[in-house]
Amino acid sequence: MSQPKRALVTGGSGGIGAAICRSLAKQGHHVYIHARHGIAAADSLAEDINAEGGSASAVHFDVTDAEGTRVAVSALPGPIQILVNNAGIHDDAVLPGMRPDQWHRVIDVSVNGFFNVTQPLLMPMIRTRWGRIINISSVSALIGNKGQTNYAAAKGALNSATKALALELATRGVTVNAVAPGVIATPMSEARFDEADIKRLVPMARAGTPEEVANVVAFLASEEASYVTSQILSVNGGMT
Ligand code: NDP
Repeated sequence: MSQPKRALVTGGSGGIGAAICRSLAKQGHHVYIHARHGIAAADSLAEDINAEGGSASAVHFDVTDAEGTRVAVSALPGPIQILVNNAGIHDDAVLPGMRPDQWHRVIDVSVNGFFNVTQPLLMPMIRTRWGRIINISSVSALIGNKGQTNYAAAKGALNSATKALALELATRGVTVNAVAPGVIATPMSEARFDEADIKRLVPMARAGTPEEVANVVAFLASEEASYVTSQILSVNGGMT
């Protein structure tokens, strides 16, 4: 068990993000549950965690708003030592039919959002000489997926940023890793994959659960993962 830290989980109002918030709270950390529009979901999750003896509070901002994000994350009390960049969207279309706004929006949330949230938190984290940055990527960036050229590009950029930042921070006690989920049972994937797709695509013939992703994030955030950095860990039931 790690010493309690302050953790920020972006997209904590969503399916996978909520499970990550719960697992970090179970490790004893104070969790800032971030939402953009899902403020009620983040508030209610914070209430649940606090009622169960954990410690959590909700924050909200749009990660694509650089100035709004800088102000919001700089206002969080004390250094954040566990950062989970989980906010993400997909907006699928085969590339010949993809609108420019579909391309730009998906990249804006994952890639510019990563920069907007992470950059202002780095120096305070580095000064504590202990940190964990975990970026939620996707198996789509590792093996591709038809209709997701924008999403694969966005998550691929996140994987590359993970590797470069891990090198920058390697001597500072801060690890940087990515978790690349496969098909996980959340509203995001349920809209895209039916039972037959899942049986065809996933060797384990089932979707993963948000908790199965959160368990891996919790490990990477723990003291026990102190020598794991610069890795892309895919949680995908054998897809790669
Ligand atoms: P959800 O749609 O349930 O959650 C997405 C989260 O991202 C929400 O909390 C949403 O906030 C937040 N978000 C979206 N846009 C913005 C923005 N501009 N600013 C701030 N927050 C934003 O998705 P999942 O839980 O399924 O996905 C979580 C992560 O896992 C994503 O990065 C996704 O790409 C990745 N992933 C998911 C897979 C799956 O099968 N589900 C597979 C592989 C990767 P709000 O709702 O409050 O507006």
